[in-house]
Amino acid sequence: MQPTDLKNLTLEGLMQFLAGQGKERYRATQLFKWLYQQGATDFSEMTNLSKALREELAATACISRLEPEAVEVGSDGTRKYLFRLADGNAVESVLIPDEDRNTLCISTQAGCAMQCAFCLTGTFKLTRNLTTAEIVNQVLAVRRDVEVRNIVLMGMGEPLHNLDNVIAALQIMVNDNGLKLSSRRVTVSTCGLVPELERLGREVTVNLAVSLNATTDELRDRIMPVNQRYPIATLLAALKKFPLPGRRKITIEYVLLGGLNDTPEDAKRLVRLLSDIPCKINLIPFNPHEGADFRPPTKAALDVFHKFLLDRHFTVITRDSRGSDISAACGQLKGRLEKPADKETP
Ligand code: SF4
Repeated sequence: MQPTDLKNLTLEGLMQFLAGQGKERYRATQLFKWLYQQGATDFSEMTNLSKALREELAATACISRLEPEAVEVGSDGTRKYLFRLADGNAVESVLIPDEDRNTLCISTQAGCAMQCAFCLTGTFKLTRNLTTAEIVNQVLAVRRDVEVRNIVLMGMGEPLHNLDNVIAALQIMVNDNGLKLSSRRVTVSTCGLVPELERLGREVTVNLAVSLNATTDELRDRIMPVNQRYPIATLLAALKKFPLPGRRKITIEYVLLGGLNDTPEDAKRLVRLLSDIPCKINLIPFNPHEGADFRPPTKAALDVFHKFLLDRHFTVITRDSRGSDISAACGQLKGRLEKPADKETP
């Protein structure tokens, strides 16, 4: 029988696993702390468990680990980690350093089925979902390198298209005996899968970011095929009901595509659409990649758009393209290194 990878289990799942072996459920808390707070990778390290239990666990379970195959460092300090998975697939995580808080952007799928027209990951189609262990192991691997305070599920893949594994990974991240991250510092980003969004809100408390990118269904249908299933009005109605931690706001991500969705009319429509949604708006100038049919907005168009929203009392941030020289910026991840010759092998 295949050993059970304990990192695929939430605390409750681990309790059930131990109970199934006739063990006390409270042992799960000890194990959880070893896995996520001590970073144990071998049962022999778990000295507060009896030798007999450690031997039994070693016979029925395993502890997976990810090591970066390569790390690229951008001129602004952004670090892109390439992880090779056991079956040969590869995914990327991006660490965006900041003075007082590092943010780690992690992947949830190899490839993506959503096919957003402006995103390089979407052109690779979906290969497979990542397991819960593969999601949390990205955090653990980067944490061995640097402190990570913020997590965004905004890398390769649509998190809500892999919802069971993502919910389990989130539960591990925010559990006090697990990765112990504040739910205020964990953000799930989605292109707008409405039923899954509702389930996410019921099952875990985290921040939400939504990739909107258009103010008419006509354009959103074209650049984000998910809109054909869940049009803008349906998506916004779901956002109004989404439970957020504390008095947080939903982040609306808006990739500005030069000449396409960056006009003053778009800005006006955006204000109307978002008028009764507690939100802040992230404007992201399009990051070009090979084969892309789009261009970034002009500086003038970006400034007008930004100011229009600001004048209507929205919180607006125009995001820098961090890491674009190593193809680590938003929409540029593809699961392989840009220039293998430049890599820093850990
Ligand atoms: S933007 Fe997100 S959901 Fe859309 S194709 Fe890219 S990875 Fe998938």
